[in-house]
Amino acid sequence: MNANGSFKSQQAPCGRVVDGELYEDHDDEVIVTQETIYACGCQSIQHEYHDGSVSKRIVRHDGTVLVDEMLSAE
Ligand SMILES: [Zn+2]
Repeated sequence: MNANGSFKSQQAPCGRVVDGELYEDHDDEVIVTQETIYACGCQSIQHEYHDGSVSKRIVRHDGTVLVDEMLSAE
Protein backbone atom coordinates (compact mmCIF):
# COMPACT_ATOMS: atom_id res chain seq x y z
CA MET A 1 0.00 0.00 0.00
CA ASN A 2 1.27 3.43 -0.86
CA ALA A 3 1.27 6.37 1.47
CA ASN A 4 -0.95 8.92 -0.12
CA GLY A 5 -0.16 11.79 2.15
CA SER A 6 -0.20 12.81 5.74
CA PHE A 7 -2.30 15.26 7.68
CA LYS A 8 -1.99 17.20 10.86
CA SER A 9 -4.39 18.04 13.65
CA GLN A 10 -7.42 16.07 12.49
CA GLN A 11 -10.00 14.72 14.88
CA ALA A 12 -9.64 10.97 15.22
CA PRO A 13 -12.68 8.71 15.81
CA CYS A 14 -11.88 8.70 19.55
CA GLY A 15 -12.11 12.49 19.70
CA ARG A 16 -8.44 13.28 20.05
CA VAL A 17 -6.89 15.73 17.64
CA VAL A 18 -3.86 14.03 16.16
CA ASP A 19 -1.71 13.72 13.06
CA GLY A 20 -2.07 10.81 10.69
CA GLU A 21 -1.46 9.25 7.31
CA LEU A 22 -3.60 8.34 4.36
CA TYR A 23 -3.08 5.24 2.28
CA GLU A 24 -4.70 4.32 -0.97
CA ASP A 25 -4.50 1.04 -2.81
CA HIS A 26 -5.98 -0.41 -5.98
CA ASP A 27 -6.26 -4.05 -6.95
CA ASP A 28 -8.42 -6.54 -8.85
CA GLU A 29 -10.70 -7.63 -6.00
CA VAL A 30 -11.37 -4.24 -4.51
CA ILE A 31 -11.27 -1.21 -6.77
CA VAL A 32 -10.19 1.27 -4.15
CA THR A 33 -9.00 0.85 -0.60
CA GLN A 34 -8.63 3.99 1.44
CA GLU A 35 -7.09 3.75 4.83
CA THR A 36 -6.58 6.48 7.39
CA ILE A 37 -4.19 5.77 10.23
CA TYR A 38 -4.24 8.24 13.10
CA ALA A 39 -1.23 8.79 15.34
CA CYS A 40 -3.18 7.59 18.40
CA GLY A 41 -3.84 4.23 16.68
CA CYS A 42 -7.38 4.76 15.42
CA GLN A 43 -8.03 3.49 11.91
CA SER A 44 -10.60 4.13 9.25
CA ILE A 45 -10.75 1.74 6.30
CA GLN A 46 -12.98 2.06 3.29
CA HIS A 47 -13.28 -0.38 0.39
CA GLU A 48 -15.03 0.26 -2.87
CA TYR A 49 -16.08 -2.78 -4.88
CA HIS A 50 -16.72 -3.40 -8.56
CA ASP A 51 -20.51 -3.40 -8.14
CA GLY A 52 -20.39 0.06 -6.60
CA SER A 53 -20.92 -1.05 -3.03
CA VAL A 54 -18.76 0.46 -0.33
CA SER A 55 -17.74 -0.96 3.01
CA LYS A 56 -16.58 1.22 5.84
CA ARG A 57 -14.92 0.21 9.06
CA ILE A 58 -13.72 2.49 11.82
CA VAL A 59 -11.69 1.00 14.65
CA ARG A 60 -10.72 2.98 17.71
CA HIS A 61 -7.14 2.79 19.02
CA ASP A 62 -8.19 0.45 21.82
CA GLY A 63 -9.61 -2.02 19.29
CA THR A 64 -13.28 -1.12 19.64
CA VAL A 65 -15.12 -1.24 16.32
CA LEU A 66 -17.12 1.96 16.07
CA VAL A 67 -18.46 1.55 12.55
CA ASP A 68 -18.70 -1.57 10.41
CA GLU A 69 -21.09 -1.10 7.56
CA MET A 70 -21.70 -2.08 3.98
CA LEU A 71 -23.42 0.34 1.69
CA SER A 72 -24.91 -1.39 -1.32
CA ALA A 73 -24.99 0.22 -4.71
CA GLU A 74 -28.38 1.75 -5.47
ZN1 LIG B 1 -7.69 7.31 18.89
